[in-house]
Amino acid sequence: MADYKAPVKDMQFVLENISRMPQLAAMTTFEDATPDMVSAILEEAGRVSAAVIAPTNVTGDEQGVRLENGTVKIPDGFADAYKQYAEGGWGSLQFDPEYGGQGLPYSLSTSVMEMWQSANMSWGLCPLLSQGAVEALYLNGSDQLKSTYLPNMISGEWTGTMNLTEPGAGSDLSVIRSKAVPEGDHYLVTGQKIFITWGDHEMADNIIHLVLARLPDAPAGVRGISLFLVPKFLVNESGELGERNDVAVASLEHKLGIHASATCVMAFGEKAGAVGYLIGEEGKGLACMFTMMNNARLAVGLQGVAISERAYQQALWYAGDRTQGKAVGFTEEGPILRHADIRRMLMTMKAFTEAGRALAYDACGSLDFAHAHEDKTLAAQEKARAAYLTPIVKGWCTEVAQEVTSLGVQIHGGMGFIEETGAAQHFRDARILPIYEGTNSIQALDLVGRKTLSDQGVAAHAIMKEISATVEQASASARFSSAARKLQAALVVAQNSTSQLLAQSAENAYFPGAVAYNYMMMMGTLCGGWQLLRSGLAAEGKQAQGESDPYLEAKQLTALFYMDQILPRYLSYAAVVDTGSEAIMAFTDEHLESAFS
Ligand SMILES: Cc1cc2nc3c(=O)[nH]c(=O)nc-3n(C[C@H](O)[C@H](O)[C@H](O)COP(=O)(O)OP(=O)(O)OC[C@H]3O[C@@H](n4cnc5c(N)ncnc54)[C@H](O)[C@@H]3O)c2cc1C
Repeated sequence: MADYKAPVKDMQFVLENISRMPQLAAMTTFEDATPDMVSAILEEAGRVSAAVIAPTNVTGDEQGVRLENGTVKIPDGFADAYKQYAEGGWGSLQFDPEYGGQGLPYSLSTSVMEMWQSANMSWGLCPLLSQGAVEALYLNGSDQLKSTYLPNMISGEWTGTMNLTEPGAGSDLSVIRSKAVPEGDHYLVTGQKIFITWGDHEMADNIIHLVLARLPDAPAGVRGISLFLVPKFLVNESGELGERNDVAVASLEHKLGIHASATCVMAFGEKAGAVGYLIGEEGKGLACMFTMMNNARLAVGLQGVAISERAYQQALWYAGDRTQGKAVGFTEEGPILRHADIRRMLMTMKAFTEAGRALAYDACGSLDFAHAHEDKTLAAQEKARAAYLTPIVKGWCTEVAQEVTSLGVQIHGGMGFIEETGAAQHFRDARILPIYEGTNSIQALDLVGRKTLSDQGVAAHAIMKEISATVEQASASARFSSAARKLQAALVVAQNSTSQLLAQSAENAYFPGAVAYNYMMMMGTLCGGWQLLRSGLAAEGKQAQGESDPYLEAKQLTALFYMDQILPRYLSYAAVVDTGSEAIMAFTDEHLESAFS
């Protein structure tokens, strides 16, 4: 089985050339993010992820989590890995120094987060959700709540969770039934939440649950939902931990993958009611939670990149180790790596992974600019850019992770289907990614509805304008001019599909839903090609300046491979958008079961 090695060189390249780290470091807000600092952080995080966290991945999968006397018992090595993570200050990189953060760019912490997710996705979910909880509390909480809870959450002494889902409320959160009744300076929260990631564990001293619930007189629907902070242990006025709150784990789920992540059914207020504190205004809970969900959606897209990277490293190692047959052009038996179709699969894995990484970091970089720009117009443009890219990062990167981890299994042949190689675990673990944090159907609807139809395509066209500028730049390069023509052809089709989407949706209410998935995949395929062309051009520029690292040549070949072998998929996605939804709408419930009724 391959050991995980953090792809520090690629991360650094993407931060420098795609997500604009040098420009960020030139701004006062992020002046500490010097090249030396970025490099030191990536190197050390790479060491911790490889030496401390990655070794817990397989044992975690085998041992899983168990519920004993109401407490979640975790696999060997998890507590120590978490201790080292917290003591290293890894959870504080991007947060406000006023609460103990280090004030570094979010895009930098994103690359570090990618390492944790590659090393062990089950374990990595705990820091991932904690960071989302910090973000939601920081942006929406009162000063008192922030000063009481944020320092310990940012330091990693306490972790955070997100409690949205209920048995009757998954994709549609407007029907949430959990209740919160005012009592003095707090509320008493009751209700059941399901599928709560890391709802309990003993890695940290306290767990801060962010919970959606309704006030007694709240109106039905989204406007009646409020957000509450419910600690596992109550915190007294001097900041010390007090009594256990009325929140308990009712049971743990048994899952297809991420066996070592505790997915809990949570019972709030079964005795006297769980003490909770309102975050933000009454009735604005979903809007507050969206700050956490947007952050988490980017992070789940990043998990798609992370698990793809891990699957690629495993497949590459196996393809170099396994001997089978003579490849064309060789007289002796050799590693399967020599076979052209194995190379196709490896290159596909690598191209998807690097395209996804560039796209995810780029979106996070925009959030950094939105935060650091003093010019409000520029800040708003960057925010809109990140918002547009978020469902593509979540949807596309996690869809392609299914293909990448499946190719990882395929490269192993029969051994891929056998657990001991580890390829199967990546495939199983990746399967949750298109489901949680808003299924990819919901991401596609978000891209089409909220991000495209609602502004009549303004944000979409802004991205397409950027793609056009990259095409123009690439046209002047002998090496990339043909790739530029291919991307230009894809861009023209995407522009037409967007016009088609806007026009047809105005006529036919079913149209957006019927084409949304294919539209999202078309835009993802286009944006992936755009990011790799940007990367290829940057690598070519470095080579022209005399840098001779083979990594730079590989980057350019990866971009050319994508244009030849992956980009053409845009045509089939676009064809569905263009032909529309007639067949889907013509199909009745009766038709669906007509073959066996
Ligand atoms: C391992 C795991 C961890 C999780 N962690 C958390 C957590 O920490 N906190 C938390 O609150 N939740 C968590 N969840 C819940 C997760 O976010 C939901 O499962 C997810 O949002 C889907 O909701 P659902 O399961 O109720 O599916 P449903 O909403 O019932 O959806 C079923 C199918 O219908 C489709 N569908 C539903 N509505 C629409 C629509 N309007 N348009 C098109 N298609 C639609 C969906 O895409 C899906 O394919 C977790 C789930 C799992 C499995």
